[in-house]
Amino acid sequence: MTDTLPPCPDCGSAFTYQVDALLNCPECGHEWQVGEETGTAIRDSVGNLLADGDTVTVIKDLKVKGSSAVVKVGTKVRNIRLVDGDHDIDCKLPGIGQMGLKSQFVKKVAD
Ligand SMILES: [Zn+2]
Repeated sequence: MTDTLPPCPDCGSAFTYQVDALLNCPECGHEWQVGEETGTAIRDSVGNLLADGDTVTVIKDLKVKGSSAVVKVGTKVRNIRLVDGDHDIDCKLPGIGQMGLKSQFVKKVAD
């Protein structure tokens, strides 16, 4: 996997570089947190910013596509992974396996 840094959100420069958890733009001097760039933020049902590795709970019963299983409200989902798409959370559920969730149907919890 190649680690491509995102372009500068201020001036669009592709020459960004990373120092620890900060990204820097050599052209306009902008500094920002890794993963904080606008447009890619995924928020839960109450507006908390979600990140890879977060733990969330499901806020409503969700039918699992292609099976009769249901993810019950209150189900705790550990170690989520954010992805692009309609279902923007990729996770593994005990007893169900790999599945996609929509961020509007989860709530972030302290692990
Ligand atoms: Zn810049």
